[in-house]
Amino acid sequence: MDVKFNDFARRYADSSRYGPDLHEMAELAFDFGWRGFGMVDDGTGEPLAEWDTHNYYNCDCSEIPTRVNYESALAAFKAAGVDTHSHNGWIVWDAASRAGHEIARKISATLADYPILDDERLSELEWDNAVRMIEDLYRLPDDVTGDDVVREMPEVPYCSNCSSCDVEDAMASLGYSQCMDCSTWIKSLVCSGEHVCYDCADREREGDCECVPNYVDGLRNMGLYPTASDLREIQRGCETCYPVRWPHGGAKLGV
Ligand SMILES: [Zn+2]
Ligand SMILES: [Zn+2]
Ligand SMILES: [Zn+2]
Repeated sequence: MDVKFNDFARRYADSSRYGPDLHEMAELAFDFGWRGFGMVDDGTGEPLAEWDTHNYYNCDCSEIPTRVNYESALAAFKAAGVDTHSHNGWIVWDAASRAGHEIARKISATLADYPILDDERLSELEWDNAVRMIEDLYRLPDDVTGDDVVREMPEVPYCSNCSSCDVEDAMASLGYSQCMDCSTWIKSLVCSGEHVCYDCADREREGDCECVPNYVDGLRNMGLYPTASDLREIQRGCETCYPVRWPHGGAKLGV
């Protein structure tokens, strides 16, 4: 049986100590029902990697480019009617097809210059990944989506491990800060990071005393939130709360 190989498959068979030799490649071709066996140089002299969803332990910053290149290569072969398979984590193709040789050559030449076959697709996947990561990690308020947050960022966080991602900054430009105590997002005119949500403010209330609820209601009517130190001041100034919260305060001050 006469099996056709592409240049890279021949070179790889010669040079790689662990990869298949030509004889094994011919057997693989036979298994796949092909009369040729081709591989794709990823631009560095290694075979272009297959992307599969099982590799999710990898860092996004290697996973996403691998996926883009794999899907682009696959689409190019498919559009030309060239049969492909995955073998040993690589994309391999039927080198009996003349069109396949041209495609493999083009991909390698492109990748030798620039590591990504489709920049637009890469940005799209990075964006989606960032949105998913933010929506998983932060319980966003109902009227804010992960897309809104990413849109506010100076650059899209391209990797959940390696890129920095300042969600608090982005949320601040959307008018939100986190409650200092429970991390709930509060929409506040002043985003100082020192405000607490109404629920947490309510927990500061001392017994039946209305000083804190009254103060918080006043702010609420103006769409504002108290800070922890505001609440402390209110209670310091309250005849009922002061002796309960600071039982030794009076003695110390000599009052
Ligand atoms: Zn990474
Ligand atoms: Zn809170
Ligand atoms: Zn009070």
